[in-house]
Amino acid sequence: MGVGIELPQLITGPVEWDATADVIVVGFGIAGACAAISAAEAGARVLLLERTGAAGGASALAAGHFYLGGGTPVQTATGHADSVEAMITYLEAVTPEPDAAKIRAYCTESVAHFDWLEAHGIEFERSFYPGKSVVQPGTEGLMWTGNEKVWPYREQAHPAPRGHKVNALAERGGQQVMAALTERVRELGVEVGYETTVAQLVADASGRIIGVRWRDGAATGAVVLAAGGYVMNTEMLAAYTPRLAEHFLPLGVPSDDGLGIRLGQSAGGATARMDGAFMTASFYPPADLLYGIIVNKAGRRFVAEDSYHGRTAGAVVAQSDSTAYLIVDSKHMVWPELPMVKFVDGWHRVSEMESALGIPDGALHKTMTAYNTAAAEGRDPEFGKHPDWLTPLTEGPWGAFDLTPGKATYVGFTLGGLCTSVDGAVLRADGSVIPGLYAAGACASNLAQDSCGYASGTCLGEGSYFGRRAGAHAAGISRAAPNRARSAESTGMEGD
Ligand SMILES: Cc1cc2nc3c(=O)[nH]c(=O)nc-3n(C[C@H](O)[C@H](O)[C@H](O)COP(=O)(O)OP(=O)(O)OC[C@H]3O[C@@H](n4cnc5c(N)ncnc54)[C@H](O)[C@@H]3O)c2cc1C
Repeated sequence: MGVGIELPQLITGPVEWDATADVIVVGFGIAGACAAISAAEAGARVLLLERTGAAGGASALAAGHFYLGGGTPVQTATGHADSVEAMITYLEAVTPEPDAAKIRAYCTESVAHFDWLEAHGIEFERSFYPGKSVVQPGTEGLMWTGNEKVWPYREQAHPAPRGHKVNALAERGGQQVMAALTERVRELGVEVGYETTVAQLVADASGRIIGVRWRDGAATGAVVLAAGGYVMNTEMLAAYTPRLAEHFLPLGVPSDDGLGIRLGQSAGGATARMDGAFMTASFYPPADLLYGIIVNKAGRRFVAEDSYHGRTAGAVVAQSDSTAYLIVDSKHMVWPELPMVKFVDGWHRVSEMESALGIPDGALHKTMTAYNTAAAEGRDPEFGKHPDWLTPLTEGPWGAFDLTPGKATYVGFTLGGLCTSVDGAVLRADGSVIPGLYAAGACASNLAQDSCGYASGTCLGEGSYFGRRAGAHAAGISRAAPNRARSAESTGMEGD
């Protein structure tokens, strides 16, 4: 934990309860909604506390991709063969520290989770968007949103598109997802307290978490933290993901300030992959730009240019000074559709481009000669760029786009969070479970760990899936726990 971030104080003394529930869920984004629904469907009395005046969180801003596979109805209807084993192999290959149990559970139950989402009003069109883009412009239910076709992954696991987008235009999926889940929460009679910022956890003498406290109230029950990430907390960014603090625009809502993570830490919860972040400054669409090459300030390539935009961004940031340029020839020069990367200039000679970009004399020329020679044979011996995007860049003049953070506009959000079991139980550093405490969504560390391995849809996918597991498990243990009243009393909560 460390790095001087102030934690809320864990309450261990007697507390006067204003409300009693089986399960208290903190945060009404996708993870909290799914935890609340699954706990309520398991028969638990649920109290859902949300700091703002409405459901949604960052989830409502999301484009609406869910990373799902193993033979979903959309994959099947659009003729894309997939298997649980291929999905597992792929996720294990792209994840820096894969949690085998979580990946296996997620992939094995992916089709069932798809069905659950549809049964809860989140529908996916049986259609496929074939283009290389960040988000499909229409309502197509499936597209490639990861690195499945990128070398070396395409040789490790049979590639299949797994980016399922909810049936909404362009980037409006998140709103639709949250509207559907909010309706289900209402139908189930879950009590919701808005304008209620959970500020502290309460533990009994044994260390079991038995409730929460907010400014002028307290409730007892098992607790599921689903309070989002920390991209809006500059102190936490500086401590854990300093690259995100510089030159990046945070993607999120103001309440993504890491309070959920800090609440978990206050109870002894360990964190994992806190340096992990998704980041992007996508230069595509249009896909034609993928024919270009990306070089660092030494004039060397360092990533397959057909990678998912988050992988490219992760590789750019890892370069010396994070300096990188996308180079295209006249034949493939088009303007990016997203206003994220800037055109530098065009040059008639590669040597002029080298000196204008500050690349050592001859270095870019050498890179381009080697690339063009192999590309003419449909090969990329260095990075295995897919033959679909290989062509010699021989038609001058040549242009460059600056991909360097600060020159290009990068956006991002955090991926690290509390250590949890496959059922969402928060774990201590020694791996033991903190009884009564769960976490899911962006305040927990699950499948998504870094930008290079990220695929669009992983956050909504894992937030909903592990949110469900946490809610169901909390409901189970809560009913088994002694001395806990089964009925939720009205809180009469006032604003916080
Ligand atoms: C623009 C954008 C597009 C994205 N698109 C996608 C996508 O298409 N697919 C994908 O997988 N991911 C996407 N993401 C990432 C994804 O949206 C988030 O990772 C995910 O929604 C997090 O869900 P969550 O439930 O954990 O948190 P949130 O949705 O942020 O919900 C957390 C809630 O907790 C509340 N809260 C916080 N602290 C407290 C407290 N102390 N007490 C009570 N309540 C509290 C907050 O107010 C908030 O409502 C996108 C993100 C952004 C910003």
